[in-house]
Amino acid sequence: MEQLRRTKITDLLKSTETGHTVNVKGWVRTKRGNKQVNFIALNDGTCIHNLQIVVDVPNFDEALLKRITTGAAISINGEVCESTGSGQAVEVLAKEIVVMGECDPDKYPLQPKKHSLEFLREIAHLRFRTNTFGAIARVRHAMIFAVHEFYTKKGFLNIHTPIITASDAEGAGEMFKVTTLDYENLPRTEEGQINYKEDFFGKATNLTVSGQLEGELAALALGEVYTFGPTFRAENSNTSRHLAEFWMIEPEMAFYDLDDNMDLAEEFLKYLIKYALDNCMDDLKFLSSRLQEEEKNKKADERTMELIEKLQFVLSNDFIRLPYSDAIDILKNSKPNKKGKFKYPIDGFGSDLQSEHERYLVEKHFKKPVILTDYPKDIKAFYMKQNDDGRTVRAMDVLFPQIGEIIGGSQREEDLDKLTARMKEMDIPAEEMWWYLDTRRFGSVVHSGFGLGFERLMLFVTGMGNIRDVIPFPRTPKTAEF
Ligand code: ATP
Ligand code: MN
Repeated sequence: MEQLRRTKITDLLKSTETGHTVNVKGWVRTKRGNKQVNFIALNDGTCIHNLQIVVDVPNFDEALLKRITTGAAISINGEVCESTGSGQAVEVLAKEIVVMGECDPDKYPLQPKKHSLEFLREIAHLRFRTNTFGAIARVRHAMIFAVHEFYTKKGFLNIHTPIITASDAEGAGEMFKVTTLDYENLPRTEEGQINYKEDFFGKATNLTVSGQLEGELAALALGEVYTFGPTFRAENSNTSRHLAEFWMIEPEMAFYDLDDNMDLAEEFLKYLIKYALDNCMDDLKFLSSRLQEEEKNKKADERTMELIEKLQFVLSNDFIRLPYSDAIDILKNSKPNKKGKFKYPIDGFGSDLQSEHERYLVEKHFKKPVILTDYPKDIKAFYMKQNDDGRTVRAMDVLFPQIGEIIGGSQREEDLDKLTARMKEMDIPAEEMWWYLDTRRFGSVVHSGFGLGFERLMLFVTGMGNIRDVIPFPRTPKTAEF
């Protein structure tokens, strides 16, 4: 075969130039045709579209053509021609074909037909080869890039916070232990407790649930920082919005109060959505049609807005901002609450909001994204800034349609006495947090931050319904395959 530099299908389909010879490589999606001519739909992962390869059957060895089956990897040299029927401007007339990797059609799990998302989860090692998961992978990359671009343009520094941590202040009970101790033969103290002094780090350690506390340390010297790392939660909740391992973006800013924090969160989300609309339109169009196909089975009032329209809708509307107590009033007096339709009825101030309540506010009541602020202190973390009313804290949760909470954040308590008093109330050992408290001892200032769950964002942007489908290899209770 003549050696030519590989041309990517995305680049080929962008140009209308014809008459030249190119090399393309990829995986066969389908092959159809007759004794005279075959048409191969070739995909190389660079875009949603397949390249049509036209094969003049008499010019090729029959045995070679037989080996070109769905899933096979092939390399083709051929002439770029104007396309008459494939929906693309150009196609390739094959001159030379090499089968790089055969694919036994009787054994290949990905047949050229529609597979359920549940089935594809079981073959997550192959699902990148479908239109849906190719599109999601490309959008996911675009969103990662946009996150870094947004903060870089604003002058934020990206900080790598630790993945192994000895502080369990945030995630009591829902952390994964990290240890090299021998389970069969655990070292014990005289009192019979496990002796973590003999463990790898000389103390009990866990996988992090958030990079926030370390992010604060950096912000109180560098001004504006953000983390974008994996986080781990051993919560045994098998929902379509929770993973045991997920990625979180956590900006942390000195000199920001809660209003500045909300402004940043809204600007950030809109930037990401606009970036997707500006850069991922082909994939979004595909994902939109996929969603509409899926929605056909739903009742009319359960169908969601068309994907691209929904993204544009969020861009063109200001988010509603309102205190938790107002939201409780709305929910208390809402139809579903009065008719007992909520699984968790709202009886008043203090109720923790479940996703059904968050979605009611966003989808039914306001019909816009909502930022709730000033939650009761008893349902929020110790580090949130205490309001003067003595019962609420300067928390903010951003609520999105279909998702519920997409961002959780707050202004942080910068006053050492108030912070330590709250820690005492919540039984958080101040001695272990000496390093965190030092920031409040030495040059403490007003500061704020939040966490955006990256996969929740991905759910929103792709219109997918299950968080297991927007991360390549999901980790959930009882599943850690691949
Ligand atoms: P939820 O109430 O939905 O469980 P949370 O209150 O535990 O969320 P935070 O601790 O505030 O969430 O975490 C910040 C963000 O991380 C959330 O707004 C959400 O986007 C995301 N997030 C939290 N838990 C998970 C999870 N298990 N899987 C994926 N994303 C998550
Ligand atoms: Mn949670």
